[in-house]
Amino acid sequence: MPGAPTGHAPVHGRRTREKLTPRGPPALPVRAPHGWHNRRTPPPFRRPTQPPVETTLAEPLQSALSGVARMLVHAGKLPAKAAEDLVKQAREKKISFVNAVIASGQVSPADLAHTLSSALALPLLDLGAMDPQRMPQNVIDAKLMQQYQVVALSRRGNRLFVGGADPTDLEVIERIKFATQLQPEWVIVEHDKLSKLLSSASASAAETLESIAGGDFDFDIAEEDATPQQESAELADVEDAPVVRFLQKMLVDAINLRASDLHFEPYEFHYRVRFRVDGELREITQPPIAIKDKLSSRIKVISRLDIAERRVPQDGRMKLKFGAKSIDFRVSTLPTLFGEKIVIRILDSSSAKLGIDALGYEKIEKERLLAAIYRPYGMVLVTGPTGSGKTVSLYTCLNILNQPGVNISTVEDPAEINLPGINQVNVNDKAGLNFSAALKSFLRQDPDIIMVGEIRDLETADIAIKAAQTGHMVMSTLHTNDAPKTLTRLLNMGVAPFNIASSVLLITAQRLVRRLCENCKQPAEYPREALLKAGFVEEDFDGSWKPYRAVGCNNCTNGYRGRLGLYQVLPITEAIQRIILAEGTAMDIAEQAKKEGVRDLRQSGLVKVRGGITTLEEVLSATNE
Ligand SMILES: [Zn+2]
Repeated sequence: MPGAPTGHAPVHGRRTREKLTPRGPPALPVRAPHGWHNRRTPPPFRRPTQPPVETTLAEPLQSALSGVARMLVHAGKLPAKAAEDLVKQAREKKISFVNAVIASGQVSPADLAHTLSSALALPLLDLGAMDPQRMPQNVIDAKLMQQYQVVALSRRGNRLFVGGADPTDLEVIERIKFATQLQPEWVIVEHDKLSKLLSSASASAAETLESIAGGDFDFDIAEEDATPQQESAELADVEDAPVVRFLQKMLVDAINLRASDLHFEPYEFHYRVRFRVDGELREITQPPIAIKDKLSSRIKVISRLDIAERRVPQDGRMKLKFGAKSIDFRVSTLPTLFGEKIVIRILDSSSAKLGIDALGYEKIEKERLLAAIYRPYGMVLVTGPTGSGKTVSLYTCLNILNQPGVNISTVEDPAEINLPGINQVNVNDKAGLNFSAALKSFLRQDPDIIMVGEIRDLETADIAIKAAQTGHMVMSTLHTNDAPKTLTRLLNMGVAPFNIASSVLLITAQRLVRRLCENCKQPAEYPREALLKAGFVEEDFDGSWKPYRAVGCNNCTNGYRGRLGLYQVLPITEAIQRIILAEGTAMDIAEQAKKEGVRDLRQSGLVKVRGGITTLEEVLSATNE
């Protein structure tokens, strides 16, 4: 294979910790006293059998340092103090020193690779010059490669050349040896190029799916649903094996990346696949444009859409069996200038089963919310813009209340989360089944708990309130900016103040912000004025906390991993009821809420900044209205 690491093949038998430390001067501190703090006269450093290290001994060496840390300090790439700090950080965060040092940005991936290569006399390979297609496939399990951040470069007899950024990781060699029954040989590669290769390898169309999903992977297509068109000539297209594998691979990758949506986008000269992860779209791959029609046909067949119809948008669903788990997808097609754009939404019902603690409620907010939903009747409203996690919050509550003794019904447009034991209805405007019609039917079905996807008109509001007043727990959402405005919104819809005051128990407003990656986040410095302007007060600066910034590492996207909610949880107390009855303004309600210790969304976000859970930027952009 091209660029195979044969030039200076690694020496056999370098498999123990002793042998992985630098040769050359073994006991660095012994040499150090000869003017090592004088930058102009560094001591000579030569290793008898290796080319000289290009850099100089520039900083005091700490005997406590070992492995990579010592090599970097030794090579003058990292001050000893910084190395010590990073060693400590890595230990605290339970990550490797290599990940810590790269995340800190204090040593570039190229410098790290060069330093390790000369210190350990291991070959260095530029991954950028390698053709990934020609690397051995499926020799090392894909999961193992991702977990240990290594890649199989080439194989010769029973020797396997393994590219990695941290050759001091002895565990990985043992694991690979065991898994492959081959003799692994380290080749140093640059950390960033390796990460890029690993993430694109996992999205590459050429790679076979088997290594990731095993044989447990199957679309659930009911045979009786096969439409006549499937027997037409287009059948050849939809059964095209590379396209089938590519789609399966994209879906599995999306699930593994915790994506919420997949976008398949045709343009005039290229085709693009993007995933939405933690609320942000990112490009995953650009498959050949020639596959666009085959791919859209394939997706349409398994989601039971009309594959001959390419001029109008269509909506469908599909189900994927993934081992014992099955995952639902909602599919939507849109005719664009250069072909059909297809968006696949992953309907992950596990999100509702994570429990309320995964959503990011502060203790008092959680207690107030639970107190309201455990009441026998009344109305609980969740408010916020699209994509603020309202559905997950409501379903988490429904999941808590979902007991054999209660009848729960939901009407949604459409249902995004499936929970066994809950009667879910999709609105169907064409058939006249809108929110209010469904609500009326629910009331004839002996309900205990009713969830209405959204209250957007007076008729729905009136029926929902009537249900809440007559012994049912009603949950719903509204599109408003914050909790106090929800009450005035209902008034503006024409709901009588008395009806609001006597039915609504609690309103929560929410936003989603990205969660800082625990692995790589770093303390941030902000001018005091900026923090004050954001809403902190002088008393907050007691030195007990510091804000953090996003950095970025192998475990996250741009320094963030996952999301959490900011909440304004407003219980409707007697004092607030009085303001509603007097038709007070949202401002009056907000003022009273503040007196009662209800945090607004911004304040709630600042609590998360104090806790080092998210960044000030995230909170400001989520709460800037
Ligand atoms: Zn990270």
